[in-house]
This record gives sequence, C-alpha cells and structure tokens, in this order.
Amino acid sequence: MNHETSRDLYDRALDVLVGGVNSSVRAAPQPYPTFVRKGDGGHVVDADGNRYVDWVMGLGPLLLGHDLPEPVQAAIQRRTSEGPMYGMPTELEVEHAEFVARHVPSVEMLRFVNSGTEATTSAVRLARGYTGRDKIVVMQSGYHGAQESTLVEGDREERGPSSAGIPAEFAEHTIPVPFNDEDAVTEVFEEHGDDIACVLVEPLLANKGIVEPVDGYHETLRDLTDDAGALLIWDEVITGFRVGGLGCAQSKYGVTPDLTTFGKIIGGGFPVGAIGGRTDIMEAFTPVGDVFQAGTFSGHPVTMAAGLETLQYAAENDVYEHVNGLGRKLREGLSEIVADQAPEYTVVGTDSLFKVLFTRRGDAQSGACADGCEQDPDCDRFDACPKNGADVARGAVERWNRVFRPQMLDDGILLSQNQFESQFVAYGHTEEDVERTLEAYRNAL
Ligand SMILES: *Cc1c(COP(=O)(O)O)cnc(C)c1O
Repeated sequence: MNHETSRDLYDRALDVLVGGVNSSVRAAPQPYPTFVRKGDGGHVVDADGNRYVDWVMGLGPLLLGHDLPEPVQAAIQRRTSEGPMYGMPTELEVEHAEFVARHVPSVEMLRFVNSGTEATTSAVRLARGYTGRDKIVVMQSGYHGAQESTLVEGDREERGPSSAGIPAEFAEHTIPVPFNDEDAVTEVFEEHGDDIACVLVEPLLANKGIVEPVDGYHETLRDLTDDAGALLIWDEVITGFRVGGLGCAQSKYGVTPDLTTFGKIIGGGFPVGAIGGRTDIMEAFTPVGDVFQAGTFSGHPVTMAAGLETLQYAAENDVYEHVNGLGRKLREGLSEIVADQAPEYTVVGTDSLFKVLFTRRGDAQSGACADGCEQDPDCDRFDACPKNGADVARGAVERWNRVFRPQMLDDGILLSQNQFESQFVAYGHTEEDVERTLEAYRNAL
C-alpha cells in the first residue's frame, strides 16, 4: 500500500500546523497520519487513493456514514444557498430543541453551542452559578473536552492540572474519582458534600476504552447528588443519540440527570454542542438568569438543519436497528476470535460502539459476555473486565499502536487513532464491511 502523498502532506503540515494536525489525537498513528481525500458510505479514500473500511467515523458524529441520505443532503444545501448564518434566531433552532426535548428524558430546555468542549464548560459554569458552589467531581480518565475545569489528574488527596497553562486553583476545585467505585465517591461527598456543585460523568467511559457502568453506580451518583443538593450532569456528547437510540444513554440506564451535555451526532457532521436540562436550572443562563453564556455561531442554521434532519431520518428509518445489529455482529465475532487467539484481551462496547482492549489478564473466555463486556457480576471474566480508566491504561498499548493498528491499516481497515478511543458503526456500513473487518482481526491478532 502506497502512502507517499500522506507522508508528503504530513511533511508540509509540520511546517505550518503544530505537530502537523489540528487536534492532538490525529497525530497518534505511526509513523504519520492518513490524510483523507473523501468519504464514501462506510469507507474513506485516502490522499493516495487507498480505500478503507472506516470505523473512526469522524470520531462519532457520523451516525449515517459519509453518504448523507437525500433529505439530509437537500436540507443542508438549501440552508447554505440561503446564506450561511445570521446571528439572529431561526425556526430551525426551535424545531431541533423541540425534537431533543421530546426524546431525551432529562431535557426540558436547551442551549445550543458549537462544540462538546463548549457544552461541558458552560454546563459546569451553570452548575456553579445555580448552586453557588465551586467544587466539581469528575471521573479519572473521563473526557469532557479541552476545558480548564476538567483537565485534571490525580485523586481526591493529591491532584493537579493535566495540562500546562492551567492554574493549580482549577484542579483544587475539581475532584477526580475512579469510575465505578462507589466507596471513593461516597467518601468525597462525606468530606466535601456541601461544597460540591456537580458530578460530571459520562454514562460510560467512551474515550478510555469503552468502560460500561457496573450495576448501581449511576444510581449511587444520583442519590449522592440529590442528598447533597448538587447537580448530576451526564456528558452525552458521544453517547447522545448513539447509545440508547433517540432516548440516549439515560433512557437505556434508567437514570435521569439534572443536566445533559450533547455534541457530535446532534450536529449531523457540523460543529455543535448543547446543554439541556430542567427549566429551573437552565433558566440560570443569561438572558433569563445571571450565568453568562453566548456565541456568534451558536444555533448555526446549517448545523441545525444537518442535525435535525439526521435525527428525523433516524427516527423514521431503521438506523438504530442497522447500526446496533452490525455492532452486535462485530462484538460477537470478535469475542469468538479473541477466545481462540488472544484470550487475555477483552471485547467491549454496546449498541454501535465496539473495541478490542489489549488487556493483559483474564484467560478464561468461557462464560464471557458474548456481546462484549457488560459488567455482568455472574460472568467468569467479571474481575478481568476493566472497571475504570486505569485498568484500561494497563493494557498492551504499544503493541496496539505499533504492531496491530498498522497491520489492520495495511489490510484496509481504519481503526480508532489510538487504543483508547471508541470505534463507531454507521448506517453506511454493510455486512460485508463487518465480515472483512472480522477477517482482518483474525489475521492480525
Ligand atoms: C468528544 C467529547 C467531548 C468534546 O467535544 P468536542 O466537540 O471535541 O469539543 C466532550 N465529552 C465527551 C464525552 C466527548 O466524547
């Protein structure tokens, strides 16, 4: 496979783009990133003309794949032909908000923004403004975008910013706890309960290997926040309208947060974010309340059209049936391959998310969840299945990066850009894509 054009483009990019890219993870593939020429259904074609089955899918936003169905395509083109944006309200924003409020249990009102990062930043400000408290609780290895309040590492005793350029004071106010550890978060609430504005949590860790919640964990977070007068914020930027279908992960897991952040799919492939929740909390945002929030591009008409048409298309067609069905086929197929060839590895994912984690222990695959680890306490592999980000990080990461992923690429299969990110099934993927992918895993593992 020839990658000369990608190499030359990367070489040029290194002069004018920091690290050759505009978002850090894109530089992770060794020895250089694949530059994309175009998408096509469930595939991408790279700058050298090589075709791959694409499981990156824009890092999650592309529920429908690269070929947008006619009504979605038409709505986007109509909007762009009427002027890209106005800085004044349009009917589209109202319709999109009505759609989300109708389908997502926790959402009565919304505020649209332009990225997931902006959504979580505004949600944290809202929680602090609404409660009059400063401290927030997050999960170690959770991801909420590139924002000051959540780029923190360490634990509740000792912690600091995980990036240069962030004052230590931010980390003082942010308490990281291990995901799925009820005792740890309970102790934090015993010590700091009166100062905690919110718990900010992904329904499942989707940016660190896909780790599902153990039974009762989210209920514990709900109870602790209720008792302490703190808000529970679910970051559904990745899971929203992917896990749990139109009701999102909160309908799947049956827990209703106070606030929810969205991004990715709700913009139909264009930059987007949103904060949604109960009216009494949401109305703490300006112009009703006193928590400032604003944005030139917020509610962008092209984004609103793309997002709304995508969701309406999903509501009226077999989109979730298709992507979740192929997701299940992948996880079941991978479970068989792993049992045969790499019994220490763990298949994870749910709905249209899938991944093989290169875990180092847990030889018994017998009795493992056939559809990927579901944190079933009766499963023989329950203890070996990662429970938090640290468990995931202990895997054979270098092997995945340097040996496995490049071999899959050579075989025409484009996997996530590092070992920790999710892989996504889209409506444009086919049974044949799944078969080819399973064959490539069989050869590479
Ligand atoms: C992608 C992601 C974000 C950040 O969204 P951006 O649009 O990249 O700023 C935040 N939270 C979660 C859970 C995400 O997956």
